[in-house]
Amino acid sequence: MKNNAIDEMLEGYNKNNIHIATICSHSSLQIFDGAKQEGFKTLGIRKEGSPVKFYEGFPLAKPDDYFVVKDYTDLLDRADELIEKNTIIIPHGSFVRYMGSENFFKLKVPTFGNREVLKWESDRSKQREWLNKAIVKTPSIISKPEEIKNVNGPVIVKYHGAGGGTKYFIALDKGDFEEKIEKKEHIIQEYIVGTRYYIHYFYSPLKNKGYKLSKGVLELRSIDRRDETNVDELYKIASIEKLRETIPITFTVTGNLGGIVLRESLLPKAFEMGSRVVEKSLELFGGMIGPFSLETIVTEEEENGNRELKFYTFELSARIVAGTNPYPRGSPYTPYIEEENMSMGRRIAREINVGLDSNRLHEILS
Ligand code: AMP
Repeated sequence: MKNNAIDEMLEGYNKNNIHIATICSHSSLQIFDGAKQEGFKTLGIRKEGSPVKFYEGFPLAKPDDYFVVKDYTDLLDRADELIEKNTIIIPHGSFVRYMGSENFFKLKVPTFGNREVLKWESDRSKQREWLNKAIVKTPSIISKPEEIKNVNGPVIVKYHGAGGGTKYFIALDKGDFEEKIEKKEHIIQEYIVGTRYYIHYFYSPLKNKGYKLSKGVLELRSIDRRDETNVDELYKIASIEKLRETIPITFTVTGNLGGIVLRESLLPKAFEMGSRVVEKSLELFGGMIGPFSLETIVTEEEENGNRELKFYTFELSARIVAGTNPYPRGSPYTPYIEEENMSMGRRIAREINVGLDSNRLHEILS
């Protein structure tokens, strides 16, 4: 939404009775828990008949109220009801997927972050353009199956819009590719062998103490590694060659592992990479605000006679990722950022509080 439309809506808001709302899924537990800790009311958006009993098992993270819809796209027609409740929406990956990015873009309710990012993030080639303009190394793209042999090793084939790695596959050559491919839009990417780190950043245009950018600061708050079926367990049968060949490899995310830290000498590179992505976003579309994640693989490569550790970024998520869920009370890095050990959910609510207190809420909502 245009900033003046947001300003108008916010003017009508009762700032003492703001509801933080999100769809009951993905990272909603920490979003509700964090919003409550920061003194906000919470609203869980859910579909009729969706499971809610599990929230009883987590009373601190249970939303104060539910907003029930027949279909998530109903939110478009029911925006007024949300405005009446002085609602600020916190988007997460499933929120955008369930609504569809075009509908999410049209939703006339103040939303945390800059929705302009969708134009650059949801289209794979625009996302790559952004990363490459920010001088962030990405895996090579193979435009034709005949060229698979041009990269030194296997490729990974990703279908467009596939959530969480579903149906991705690895191919060794053109023949292998043709045997496995389904008739759907896809990209063929160099398969990078290395160690995976999913780095969670927070960009605050409002804060000025910390790792400074041209405007605001960048925080590196945590890192996770995903657990993917069945690729992450294949090593157990790796020695049984015949058996391995009969099992199709899949990359469907089933969970996230926490407690991950980088060797300290990689931290400067991780900060520089994150800061270049934010600086470029400021230039391209006014900035990617709040949480974002770079999905990376670190490799060791020869350069000028030296062995160098290098980050490859294969994906960018421009909002809170489920990988922050292992850190409901902070990560190994958050104690070095602020006194309270807070989740990403609470960090978002804290930014909204800072925006409210300094009359700069319009700068972090869209
Ligand atoms: P994505 O949907 O791009 O997040 O990818 C899903 C999963 O596939 C990742 O978490 C990785 O395990 C794996 N993956 C994706 N791209 C690559 C790549 N270029 N090289 C190696 N593994 C990859």
